[in-house]
Amino acid sequence: MELDELFAHHFLGGDKPEDYINWGVDQLLAGSDSINMALLASMDFLKPVYMQDVLKQFEKCLEELSISWPDERETIRTYSETIARRITLGEIEPRDGLKRLASLYFPSFYSEDLYAIWYGLEYDVANLEFGHTATSNPEIDLETLDTFIIKVAKQYLELLKMSLPENFLKWAYCYECQQVHQYVVKPVKGNSLLRKLFKKRHEFHVECANCTSSKITTMINYEARQKYLQLLST
Ligand SMILES: [Zn+2]
Repeated sequence: MELDELFAHHFLGGDKPEDYINWGVDQLLAGSDSINMALLASMDFLKPVYMQDVLKQFEKCLEELSISWPDERETIRTYSETIARRITLGEIEPRDGLKRLASLYFPSFYSEDLYAIWYGLEYDVANLEFGHTATSNPEIDLETLDTFIIKVAKQYLELLKMSLPENFLKWAYCYECQQVHQYVVKPVKGNSLLRKLFKKRHEFHVECANCTSSKITTMINYEARQKYLQLLST
């Protein structure tokens, strides 16, 4: 495991003592002759191994290498970038990468807006597996899912490089304006017979904040984000 991945696992609470020990072993194999590194690498022989001891030894190694603990938000962002890139390079199974990226949306205090893209897609996959329709990306199906995840990963890498509007996912592509605008959530008016029958009294719909058209697709959807990128490039 690379150091940036190790840091990310630490911040996300998924680190295990052997992750640090294995990192130490890798450093020795790569030619490190540090006594502290050798101590870290040999901690596997201690039974039981305590995380606090391993961390203390790991920090000694970092100090020797003049590396300090990185910024949490930045680390997780870089980690998400690494995972997305490895998906596009075929180094990680798309479904596995999707799971890792989707998990970033909740555990981190520094959870970013953009991680919701992955969470939405993961939710879509769960829906499809239960025989329901995907909500964020209704165009997907299980047969072509891997290809779709790779496309989303490529797009995600592009988005990470840009300075997006604040609350990017509260924006939508409006087919009426043929532009990107923020959207508003409104309760559905009227009392059609169907709605009475199904007792759907509190239904909501989203509409374009600019022209009030409901022919919009929000940025949680891949195609809407593609429209956004196309608009920027014209
Ligand atoms: Zn509009």
